[in-house]
Amino acid sequence: MKKLSRRAFNTTVGKGIGAAALMTPLTWAYGSPNTHKSQKKLGMALVGLGSYSTYQLAPALQDTQFCKLSGIVTGTPKKEVQWMQQYGIPKESVYNYDNFDDIANNDTIDIVYVVLPNSMHADFCIRAAKAGKHVICEKPMAMNVAECDAIIDACQEAGVKLSVGYRLHSEPYTQEVKRMVSEKTFGNVKYLSADAAYNSRGNPDQWRLNKALSGGGALMNMGVYAIQSAIYGTGENPTSVTAQEFSTRPEYFKDTDETVTAQFEFPSGAVANIFTSHNVNANRLYASCDRGWFELNPANHYGPLRGSTSSGRTIEFPHERQQKLQMDDFASHILSGTPNKVPGAMGKRDMIIVEAIYKSIAEGNVKIPLEFAPMYGFGE
Ligand code: NAD
Repeated sequence: MKKLSRRAFNTTVGKGIGAAALMTPLTWAYGSPNTHKSQKKLGMALVGLGSYSTYQLAPALQDTQFCKLSGIVTGTPKKEVQWMQQYGIPKESVYNYDNFDDIANNDTIDIVYVVLPNSMHADFCIRAAKAGKHVICEKPMAMNVAECDAIIDACQEAGVKLSVGYRLHSEPYTQEVKRMVSEKTFGNVKYLSADAAYNSRGNPDQWRLNKALSGGGALMNMGVYAIQSAIYGTGENPTSVTAQEFSTRPEYFKDTDETVTAQFEFPSGAVANIFTSHNVNANRLYASCDRGWFELNPANHYGPLRGSTSSGRTIEFPHERQQKLQMDDFASHILSGTPNKVPGAMGKRDMIIVEAIYKSIAEGNVKIPLEFAPMYGFGE
């Protein structure tokens, strides 16, 4: 038998696992994707046509299996024409922020994906639910916990499904981390370190640096990824958090946090340190366990991600757009009741933690206790 080099072996094994991991539950249920091409695709409307919708979500929707781009909601008339032409969207499926509620009468739209500045998430998610549409809300879910509750309640009342735009839960590297944690491949995780940060040098008037529109700085924008890593990288919800804030460019970060670190304790005794910043690039998840370690580096950008472990394995999977996998997962949840990997409770849990981190900083870096049911906020 031909001997495989370690790299070739890792790649081959990775691809095998990747193919399995990338098969959605509908694929498992009905066979290969080609066998159910005729299945109805759910129509999706993107609300807010900024950079994430333009460069990630709309292109990903050209490739999705269970949903398609059917409508747009924008405050910029010039974009209406561009998007109608580029994506073949009919005029009657184009809305602005004022007439958005008329979307209730549009049967071609099943899902509304809110991709606006954070301060607008709650309003548009609630209006979408009242219009009878399933909802995806971008991260961070809202400005505070009270708004998360209002979104969850509105979706429950309307009987529509709700998900948050944490795309990593649908991509294979993160699923592999979750597998190693739940199967205790290296024993129990005892220490986790998570970094999620980028170096912001752009327009100082952008909404992300304006607290009224963003709700906060690095912590709200990138910190939620580090919080997520700490939780799926240990498989537990934290029982306390202690946090610190650092500022080196107050003239640029006038209104929002520049750099935040925080330490979590977990029920098992594991501890985690997270780092988030708008002043430096950092993107990594590292977990030290009883009998070894695993790492993703990078851990949370659009991919391809990359991983390694103490056993010498390189974690590699074929690359697919994370947003394609994420939106198909949610559509599949609606169409056939497959698990909702990112329920509203997950976004709310993270906002409870964000509020606790800001509280710890405001009160002089004190330890803030956290109380969650063991699996609260975990995907189904
Ligand atoms: P962006 O600034 O590129 O776009 C924002 C959009 O909102 C624009 O179309 C803008 O016209 C519109 N808008 C309406 N009212 C506005 C106002 N008062 N101020 C500013 N813009 C206004 O932002 P983005 O990067 O597309 O982010 C949108 C949302 O998506 C945010 O919640 C962000 O956190 C989230 N996001 C998520 C990911 C991810 O990987 N899941 C990546 C990027 C952004």
